[in-house]
Amino acid sequence: MKPNVDHAAIAQFERLAARWWDTEGESRALHDLNPARLGYVIDRVALQGLNVLDVGCGGGLLSEALAAQGAVVTAIDLAPAVLETARLHLYESGLQVNYVETSAETLATQCPGGFDVITCMEMLEHVPDPAAIIEACGRLLKPDGWLFLSTLNRTPQAFALAIAGAEYVMRLLPKGTHRYAQFIRPAELAAALRAAGLRLEDVSGLQYNPFTRAARVGGSTAINYLVAARKPA
Ligand code: SAH
Repeated sequence: MKPNVDHAAIAQFERLAARWWDTEGESRALHDLNPARLGYVIDRVALQGLNVLDVGCGGGLLSEALAAQGAVVTAIDLAPAVLETARLHLYESGLQVNYVETSAETLATQCPGGFDVITCMEMLEHVPDPAAIIEACGRLLKPDGWLFLSTLNRTPQAFALAIAGAEYVMRLLPKGTHRYAQFIRPAELAAALRAAGLRLEDVSGLQYNPFTRAARVGGSTAINYLVAARKPA
């Protein structure tokens, strides 16, 4: 199997590893978005005791938030230094997360049908073949299981805010973090979900104001958006 990974993107995330949990560092937007995206998940599923997989977990911001809800969390990523930061942070939080350096595609061959819920947030826009990740998630889910995604839409507004604004004007993110061609339209995600045998349940906008640092679910999907899908019973 050809690895579905952009090594330049992984190298860029590796450089951020040490500062991942710094709420004023390069991951600050992820910190700010975290409560809103957790809310989107727990509005739909009670996580207590469920097997949850966080794909492209980074330093574990969402993985830990899911574990704090009582989920049994496995979290995977391909950036070793970032995973090390995630593991070390468990000493601070006292939470339990099983961090594994592997891909969704590999895990899908090892434990198909292993998870009640899968989250894959702010990750699909960094891989060469996002549909292959969604297909693997489909295999990893139990029947009736939920898949939650978030990504950036391929619109002029997303270019203006997420690339020009965040990387060049506000310098919130390192230059080169996002590439416009890799942004994904909701209809493209919907097609990939359908091809993976998953049923689209919801598409919602995710609004973020970098000045007030407030994030909320709802409104326009033109920039950041969330998707919920389910595997048929
Ligand atoms: N989901 C986390 C981190 C987002 S940053 C959050 O929202 O808080 C994107 C992460 O995806 C990085 O940690 C990067 O290393 C990881 N990643 C990129 N390509 C990947 C791949 N093919 N498989 C697994 N993880 C990947």
